[in-house]
Amino acid sequence: MSDPTQGRVTPSAPIQAAPGVRDILPDERGRWRRAEGAAHRLSRAYGYREIVTPVIEYLDLVVRVGESTDIVQKELFVFEDRGGRRLVLRPEGTAGMVRAYFQGGLNQGPQPVRLYLLGPMFRGERPQAGRYRQFNQFDVEVIGDASAAIDAETIELSLRWLEACGLRGLTLQLNSIGDQSCRPAYLERLVEYYAPLAERLCPACQRRLHQNPLRLLDCKERQCQPLKAGAPDIVDHLCDECADHFDAVRRLLAEAGIDYQLNPQLVRGLDYYTRTVFELQDPAHGGAQNALGGGGRYDGLAAALGYTPTPAVGFACGLERVVALMPADGEERASGLFLVGDGPGLEPALAQLGRLARTAIDTTVDYTSRSLRAKMRAADRLRARYVAILSPAGVTARTVTLRDMVTGDQEEVAWDQVPEKLG
Ligand code: AMP
Repeated sequence: MSDPTQGRVTPSAPIQAAPGVRDILPDERGRWRRAEGAAHRLSRAYGYREIVTPVIEYLDLVVRVGESTDIVQKELFVFEDRGGRRLVLRPEGTAGMVRAYFQGGLNQGPQPVRLYLLGPMFRGERPQAGRYRQFNQFDVEVIGDASAAIDAETIELSLRWLEACGLRGLTLQLNSIGDQSCRPAYLERLVEYYAPLAERLCPACQRRLHQNPLRLLDCKERQCQPLKAGAPDIVDHLCDECADHFDAVRRLLAEAGIDYQLNPQLVRGLDYYTRTVFELQDPAHGGAQNALGGGGRYDGLAAALGYTPTPAVGFACGLERVVALMPADGEERASGLFLVGDGPGLEPALAQLGRLARTAIDTTVDYTSRSLRAKMRAADRLRARYVAILSPAGVTARTVTLRDMVTGDQEEVAWDQVPEKLG
């Protein structure tokens, strides 16, 4: 194999994972299952139903909802099928869920429709800590209801989920970005403010000034920070309807005992968001640089996709970032049975005893020919609760030595007693 970076042959360089993707190894998977389990449990508890949409969508679905966003401009994995149709690996879940809501006829049933999705998303970003090209989201959407109570409900659900994952000390940032009737006038004010300062902006913000001025407010570049401080706040320019909606969300959160911080510079990277926006951050681990999740209202999306205008609100949290912060408790506990043979030629008896034990307890059968000592070490490394040691004599007598790896107790047990002993 030739290495293009070196210009020489590297015959045996082992193949690595592609940049920006990662494996979830078995030791970590327990925490993932707990996070996913809590997402299923809490979603159901709040009346949300699971949906699974494809990771492949038409490119148009993504482009129509945000032509001037970073995601669309540089972060999409796009490819063509054999018919020349342009497809994309979904960068987020919302657009696909709204498409499925209409295409699957959910818009015909009782409204609103409360949905949740767990699955992978794909963005061709520059990989860095906590930022991957394939990552997983817990995504919750309520489609068909414009009321502030639903905004508050989704915020509450996202917080309860993070708490159920064992995360504490999180902050909720809240803002309203208005709607089509008040935002255009605000954006004019914003552009007026920034236009004379354009030369002092970072190159990305110079582009945003013309393409997506709202995004000027969430620029993270150092040189843009002092300029942001003087920018007009959108909450001071909301129309009456948007202001009432925002007041209602705040009142409902207060009644639910949920603390929040108003952040006038919090905006969302996608164009279809309206009114409420929120973000959940862990101040102990990077704060805004490393948001755990966020969401808001997107009353304009359905129409942008060519469907009947339909209000909706939702949030998405990144599982990689959440799991990385979860306490590891519970995974160290010993469990299951490790079944080993003490001598050669025992495979058929081990397989038979394994089948029997498996009716009562998770059972791993060790068919290797390593020493008994090495087998016991393996059982320990794999955190087996019990080890069953089968000897040639045990095959004849149909008995096995059962060792409790936690207490160290050991006894001789008849094969047909094994399920009862370990069940
Ligand atoms: P967004 O869809 O951009 O609002 O992101 C919602 C959440 O998904 C973020 O708060 C992160 O937790 C997570 N997320 C977004 N992009 C990435 C990424 N490239 N790698 C890992 N997690 C991500």
